Amino acid sequence: MAEQAYEDRFAPGERVGVLPLGALDRLLDYKAPKDGCAPGAFVEVPLGPRQIVGIVWGPGTGEVPEARLRPVSRILDAPPLRAPMREFLGRAADYTLTPLPAMVRLATRAPGLTEGQAMRHVYRLGPREAGRMTDARARALAVLRDHPEMSFTLGELANMAGVGTAVIKGLVTQGAVVETEAPRDQPYPVLDLDAHGVSLTPDQMLAAAALRIGAEARSYNTTLLKGVTGSGKTEVYLEAVAETLRQGRQALVLLPEIALTGAFLARVEKRFGAPAAEWHSGMTQTERRRLWRMAATGGASLVVGARSALFLPFRDLGLVVVDEEHDTSYKQEDGVLYNARDMAVLRASIEKSQVILASATPCLESWHNAEIGKYARLTLPARVGLAVLPTIKAVDMRLEDIARGNWVSPTLANAVAARLERQEQSLLFLNRRGYAPVTLCRSCGHQLGCPHCDARLVEHRFMRRLMCHQCGETQPMPIACPDCGAEGKLAPVGPGVERLGEEVAALFPTARTAVLSSDLYGSAKSLKDAIEQIADGAADIVIGTQLVAKGHNFPNLTLAGVIDADLGLYGSDLRAAERTFALMRQVSGRAGRAEAPGEAMLQTYQPHHPVIQAILRDDDEGFWRAEAEARRMAGMPPFSRLAGIILSSEDAQEVMDKAVEMSRHIEPLRRIGAEVWGPAPAPIARVRGRHRVRLLVKADRAAPLQDALARWAAQFRFPSDLRLTIDIDPQSFM
Ligand code: ADP
Ligand code: ZN
Repeated sequence: MAEQAYEDRFAPGERVGVLPLGALDRLLDYKAPKDGCAPGAFVEVPLGPRQIVGIVWGPGTGEVPEARLRPVSRILDAPPLRAPMREFLGRAADYTLTPLPAMVRLATRAPGLTEGQAMRHVYRLGPREAGRMTDARARALAVLRDHPEMSFTLGELANMAGVGTAVIKGLVTQGAVVETEAPRDQPYPVLDLDAHGVSLTPDQMLAAAALRIGAEARSYNTTLLKGVTGSGKTEVYLEAVAETLRQGRQALVLLPEIALTGAFLARVEKRFGAPAAEWHSGMTQTERRRLWRMAATGGASLVVGARSALFLPFRDLGLVVVDEEHDTSYKQEDGVLYNARDMAVLRASIEKSQVILASATPCLESWHNAEIGKYARLTLPARVGLAVLPTIKAVDMRLEDIARGNWVSPTLANAVAARLERQEQSLLFLNRRGYAPVTLCRSCGHQLGCPHCDARLVEHRFMRRLMCHQCGETQPMPIACPDCGAEGKLAPVGPGVERLGEEVAALFPTARTAVLSSDLYGSAKSLKDAIEQIADGAADIVIGTQLVAKGHNFPNLTLAGVIDADLGLYGSDLRAAERTFALMRQVSGRAGRAEAPGEAMLQTYQPHHPVIQAILRDDDEGFWRAEAEARRMAGMPPFSRLAGIILSSEDAQEVMDKAVEMSRHIEPLRRIGAEVWGPAPAPIARVRGRHRVRLLVKADRAAPLQDALARWAAQFRFPSDLRLTIDIDPQSFM
């Protein structure tokens, strides 16, 4: 394995600091083994009577006297973690106030690290001719001839050639194919950088040229690539990928939604003649292990993945693309709280690489960074080809004649009917999973709630169950009200996508409808398949949650109807306006991607609300400017920094008492000029039986916030059942 030339090995017997991969948050000193070891090497070291796995993090601390220093027991057969990666993990841990081992665990989530490389049987072209040539045999041999760099397993070769394994075994017997041993984890297919992409438009060419220069520079730079849905952002950043790979470096494309990867991988394969490596939670242990190793050794040149792919140990990461960079799923909200978008920028600044943040509706922070020149900015002004942006209209619900328990206005229904007649697709968007958000007893007024959370139970009629969207608790739908005992009085209140599906089926009995909601599909794969079938025309009316807003391409879709455009406006959340704006624009961007012009309709009771007005005027720059000004006036991010403090415990009194105590001893925070708000019960004051109290800390951008928070928290003793979470740059205030 190639080690980094710029890092000196530790000499035999030299003192090294080893970071244990377990819970211990400090370096332990050992002696380098008899052949020395590389910085970043995975090792086994003795700790008391046990052997534990750790990483040689750097020079020793000097805490253990020379005489008591024990040697490293064994160096594991895994590529060492390079210096830039260790620096990244250290700085990410400091930024998010995460213990270093917890951060390192994100980067070592590959099974089999301690086992070393296993071997497996692979198949290559043999020296002899096949006796009798059949179609099947010819196909198998052709695959081997076309991919001399690959070592196929029996299954892979059979699959790729479309033949049975017996055919290949037969060729082995004849000597036309040979069976050999190869390391189990093989490189991914080499991408053909000069395979044909589309011919770019002049705007796209300019943008691609700028990004290519960014790749050639081999220095840190971030570009906001802004363009409406369908303007060709993907085509453009794939050119940056190609240039990065030409430079011999690796590229990573982050996508927000696992369901998006299918269509994306197909495009990569079209552009580069071979598939990219995929990284997400749905992959097998075997694939994980392979990709982890191949990222480290350079056997994977382009990785496409979910946010956690940012923690792969790339040998030389030259480019990170964060597609749909505004998407909230880049923020990990449990375990280690980090924002993959921000961490991508941190990693790139250390690795001297390029970041491309792509979006039609960037988050305000990114927009602001481009405004002040911290990021470069490229704009793709138009949709490609004949496709024009949809016209966006408000449907003023105050004027619509609509029956109780119905949500599709006559105006929207007429527009859908027109699409049905023209055999075009319509999308009805409602960001509410399940049948109805509230179930109410008509006899006593009781609302069904979760026993563990301060949250309502949501009816999921498809599953015939009630479900808590906070903790996942499910119950069968009761017949009698649990409060007053009245039978047959429980009634749904408000719409969910399933209920909307019923309404649409009643309105358009002959139309084919499909409800797209993540909980209606058993696996990511079945969801992916459903999306592809719909794109191919399997449904006339698509009813969906925010899942459908995220970049799927439905070429025949010409109408996007938003059932409740006001839904996001009610929140007291700092980003409520921004999110509504982004979501509405993304949804309306679904319409009219191909030659047929599109139309978007927003059902609203507040057509004069500034956010609705900005969407209708299609004035995105105006919206961001106004929003930035409002944030500046309020001293809110990006003009300041926030940290959310969440305390939780099963004991309501204990958690509030502790929060009050913390709010009374804020000297370390005062010293940096920070403000502290709260404590107050969290908006969802109980989740999974734990009571939650929040504080909010606000500081100047330049103030050493993390350091002050650490000092502040260190003053208190926390009972073992009380949990303290510090959320830097919080997205959620629930
Ligand atoms: P975005 O990422 O901005 O939504 P895409 O890159 O997905 O846009 O492009 C939208 C559609 O237009 C895709 O099907 C893409 O293949 C096609 N497309 C983009 N640029 C061109 C071009 N220059 N010539 C032909 N088709 C293009
Ligand atoms: Zn619950």
